[in-house]
Amino acid sequence: MILVTGAAGFIGANFVLDWVAQSQEPVVNLDKLTYAGNPENLASLQGNPGHIFVQGDIGDRSLVDRLLAEHKPRAVVNFAAESHVDRSIHGPEDFIQTNVVGTFHLLESVRAYWGSLEGEARAAFRFLHVSTDEVYGTLGPNDAPFTETTPYTPNSPYSASKAASDHLVRAYHHTYGLPVLTTNCSNNYGPYHFPEKLIPLMIVNALAGKPLPVYGDGMQVRDWLFVKDHCSAIRRVLEAGATGETYNVGGWNEKPNIEIVKTVCALLDDLRPRADGQSYATQITYVKDRPGHDRRYAIDATKIHRELGWKPAETFDTGIRKTVQWYLDHPDWVAHVQSGDYRNWIGQQYGAL
Ligand code: NAD
Repeated sequence: MILVTGAAGFIGANFVLDWVAQSQEPVVNLDKLTYAGNPENLASLQGNPGHIFVQGDIGDRSLVDRLLAEHKPRAVVNFAAESHVDRSIHGPEDFIQTNVVGTFHLLESVRAYWGSLEGEARAAFRFLHVSTDEVYGTLGPNDAPFTETTPYTPNSPYSASKAASDHLVRAYHHTYGLPVLTTNCSNNYGPYHFPEKLIPLMIVNALAGKPLPVYGDGMQVRDWLFVKDHCSAIRRVLEAGATGETYNVGGWNEKPNIEIVKTVCALLDDLRPRADGQSYATQITYVKDRPGHDRRYAIDATKIHRELGWKPAETFDTGIRKTVQWYLDHPDWVAHVQSGDYRNWIGQQYGAL
């Protein structure tokens, strides 16, 4: 049994779907179901005894203590977080509450549980914390990519809250000996991605005939990794990572945002041409840049490749084509997430697009 937190969200849901498909070992999924948690992502697991869903907060000590005592997991994988940079700029408090205070409470519960284990169960236990490359701050155009020893210089409330959680996880290893693992991954894309993030927002807006908002000059560079490859990296680290270590995970795919948007438009032009024969790229609209927008992230994933033999299965070309096709094949999922909170948020952020 493993306990996974935040697995009704984008990456966690992909992780659990892959886990259940590949393993007989059951998963308990603890998720608060914030606006980003979508039970529909896990609809295919309904009635599957390999997946137990529990709605709740990682910061709820009595609930987490009870789940640990009841299910006796051999590992906890922590995906639960507030994850959207723009939301952290407009309202940082939830980020501090979940990413910092929530992770602290989770660590305390896990520390007590681990302390109660004996023998092989104690030796085998792992706490894997899923984090981001954004904790390393921003790079100039000619700077070397982030390695595991790059100093943390987070610039947004989101990345600062993730950095704080990474430091707590590290401290629980050094102070209490808790067997932790941390992964710092670059930008993910793929199925079940909530359309407030760049790639799904562009696909959904393009198909709806709406403007495609690109921040500033669109030349902010990110590394992109297909979500299933992130999930395989996490499985590999859980299986073979050395406790107390951190592993950078990336796709060796550095691209400016505007190139991503143009690639999505070109794929849609091919797969679902506009009725008027024009390119979706005509819908691109440059909007005021995000405050404090980091210019470039790049990640050196040599360590996980060299020490654990992990590498991504998808190139950017194959992964982005699969992603665009997935959104075309799942109009009901898109329609459902576009209701309610999603619509209000997009309205507030970009005005009447
Ligand atoms: P997401 O926003 O799609 O999902 C987060 C999930 O956590 C949601 O299901 C939400 O309901 C749940 N959650 C939020 N607060 C909670 C709480 N207090 N208790 C329990 N559940 C709670 O996020 P994602 O994109 O899937 O990211 C998952 C993790 O991976 C995050 O920790 C994020 O920082 C990290 N990460 C994301 C990316 C990326 O590109 N999306 C890249 C690197 C790392």
